[in-house]
Amino acid sequence: MNAYQGRLCRLREALADLSRALLVTNLVNVRYLCGFTGSSGSLLVTDQEAVLITDSRYRLQAQQEAPDCRLQVAPRQLEGIVEVVRGLGLAGLAFERAHLTCALYEDLSARLPEVTLIATSELVEGLRMIKEAQEIRAIGQAAALTDAAFQHLCGLLRPGLTERQLGLEAEFYMRRQGADSAAFEPIIAAGPRSALPHARPSPRPLQPGDLVVVDLGARLDGYCSDLTRTVALSRAGDQEREIYQLCLWAQAAGLEALVPGAACRDVDAAARQVIASAGYGDCFGHGLGHSLGLETHEMPRLSPLDEHSLAPGMVLTVEPGIYLPERGGVRIEDLAEITASGCRLLSRAPKPAELPVLT
Ligand code: ZN
Ligand code: ZN
Repeated sequence: MNAYQGRLCRLREALADLSRALLVTNLVNVRYLCGFTGSSGSLLVTDQEAVLITDSRYRLQAQQEAPDCRLQVAPRQLEGIVEVVRGLGLAGLAFERAHLTCALYEDLSARLPEVTLIATSELVEGLRMIKEAQEIRAIGQAAALTDAAFQHLCGLLRPGLTERQLGLEAEFYMRRQGADSAAFEPIIAAGPRSALPHARPSPRPLQPGDLVVVDLGARLDGYCSDLTRTVALSRAGDQEREIYQLCLWAQAAGLEALVPGAACRDVDAAARQVIASAGYGDCFGHGLGHSLGLETHEMPRLSPLDEHSLAPGMVLTVEPGIYLPERGGVRIEDLAEITASGCRLLSRAPKPAELPVLT
């Protein structure tokens, strides 16, 4: 049984009580289930088969990437889906509530009045939470490439270069090393801009005394990685050193709590408490981390709102941050795999015990 057949099997188990068929319209979920990477398509999964519905542009690609699927080529998704559902004589069709467009829902209701449409939530995303060994290997390789990109940038960082130049260099480097692309637009945020957790690289030149948050990820064979390090340029103030230290301690507390069976919100709390007890609770607004895989942000998340428990095979980031408005910020992010007894770091970029000052 190949990986796709295994995933379809697990999906069918999850589907058993809901319906005889699920229409998967999220393209990442389609890729996960059958390997198809085109930009237009859907997958109809029944207990007997998987039918990939796409248009003629993707006929050959679909045959190559998803040889296990029956292929239905139609000029529009709607026609293809209607034909397959009628051909199978389905009475009910489950769909992905978060991903089916309102337009397609209305059109399917109108064209298939005899079919009951059944909303489902996160069925495939639930399977994607637990990574297979080959997925963890792919993420590990993307992480190694990202570590190398960070090291490469460290050799370039100097006053006068702009955030944009550095962001571009990071993307060039990752692609030259074989990445499909960056997993997301690199975040190079210096000086006051480092207080913005999701800053986009700006034309601002780096200055001595800047904190520089470097948040990079590569996509390799479809799988993402995510790494953040913070460095100071030329010199560092006491408060900058203090918040770096706190982030590091908070991250250590988070990684320590990253064990199978732990509740995601408790892991978040373990790290958050370190920052809050030092008086910086208001300066750490985002969740502690997130899972990743084919996408940069996947379920579960390390956040006060996440009800999931950790299980072996999950891969998550642990990334506390402290952001001082108009002054600067620190974030430290590593990627870890949940193992049978704890976690294993996939990120290997150096993480000095004190705020590193690049001269
Ligand atoms: Zn990141
Ligand atoms: Zn992240």
